[in-house]
Amino acid sequence: MSSTPEGLISRFQPTTGPAIDIVYAPHSGALTATCTACPWSERINTGALTTDPPEKEDLLIERHIPDAYDYAQTHAASQH
Ligand SMILES: [Zn+2]
Repeated sequence: MSSTPEGLISRFQPTTGPAIDIVYAPHSGALTATCTACPWSERINTGALTTDPPEKEDLLIERHIPDAYDYAQTHAASQH
């Protein structure tokens, strides 16, 4: 299966282990890292407000992607 979740920002593919999808639901203020191989997911608060203009929202998302990747890396390295 290779369906693409709505709001997919990035797909983290570790050298070993399953891919982790980094998803942002519009105006949610939080990125969600979701494992493609198990039910694990982690919310990363970007600090974006519903009233923020899209440009600011994008900037905050970009700034927090490394955090999401850290969670993804840690999870991907763990056992399933
Ligand atoms: Zn997993």
